Amino acid sequence: MKSISKNMKRVIPLLMLCALALTFGGLAEDHALQNMTNADTLYQVALLQSLTQGYYDGIISVGELKQHGDTGIGTFEGVNGEMIVLDGVVYQAVADGSIVIPPDEETVPFSNVTFFETDETLHLSDIADMAALQEAVNGVVNALGSNCFYMVRIDGTFAALKVRSEYKQEKPYRALDVALAEDQTEFDYEDARGTLVGLYCPPYMSSLNTAGWHFHFINEDRTRGGHVLQVSVKDAEAAFDLTNGFEMTLSREDEFQKMDLAKDVDEAIHRAETATNGQD
Ligand SMILES: [Zn+2]
Repeated sequence: MKSISKNMKRVIPLLMLCALALTFGGLAEDHALQNMTNADTLYQVALLQSLTQGYYDGIISVGELKQHGDTGIGTFEGVNGEMIVLDGVVYQAVADGSIVIPPDEETVPFSNVTFFETDETLHLSDIADMAALQEAVNGVVNALGSNCFYMVRIDGTFAALKVRSEYKQEKPYRALDVALAEDQTEFDYEDARGTLVGLYCPPYMSSLNTAGWHFHFINEDRTRGGHVLQVSVKDAEAAFDLTNGFEMTLSREDEFQKMDLAKDVDEAIHRAETATNGQD
């Protein structure tokens, strides 16, 4: 009997907590549930391979995307600029390099987001270029496990940055590398304060995304940004979110179903991710 009353003493505060949770209910409860289900899940809209082959139709809305993460990268219907998701805000770095906040009704053909929780941090200073940055962040990835996903945010000062965006495409859509060869815009910044948002995918993801790192940048006052082509880091703090779950959503449209998504488009992806104007 004694043990039962002891247990009841534990149960009653729990019941009170439940009652409180029910009272506050609504949004707070929804948010807690989302965080529980999604915090360690990387959510992906379509494939980088479908985007690369020219499938630029939006699959979900910006409003829906925000239900799956508060940090990430991607693009918009018609490849209308580069997406940076940070602190729950979806930013759109459009063709002139400036940032707009898209409405929730805007749609998304490709993106990766997660609810960011810091698992590890790393101080970065005097990192010469993209290769050196990747080497530095790979130190953490290799220590924690290179077969998981990582979202990283790197806040600080960047000695030099080259970022790109692109003009919105109209139908019929061309393959991404072909469209970018004509419609890519590039911007160089020096001593820029801001944030890199980066995604690491393990090597086995090379048929669904790109293996390794993919970075987007947004400046501190959230007015300029884009897909990072080159970077040198002066002084920054990197925060890593190790993510061991994966969820993908696909289009049910006929056009998407007819695509050959097993086709090897690695070279086209490499060109689309890394090429600068006048260079293949
Ligand atoms: Zn990008």
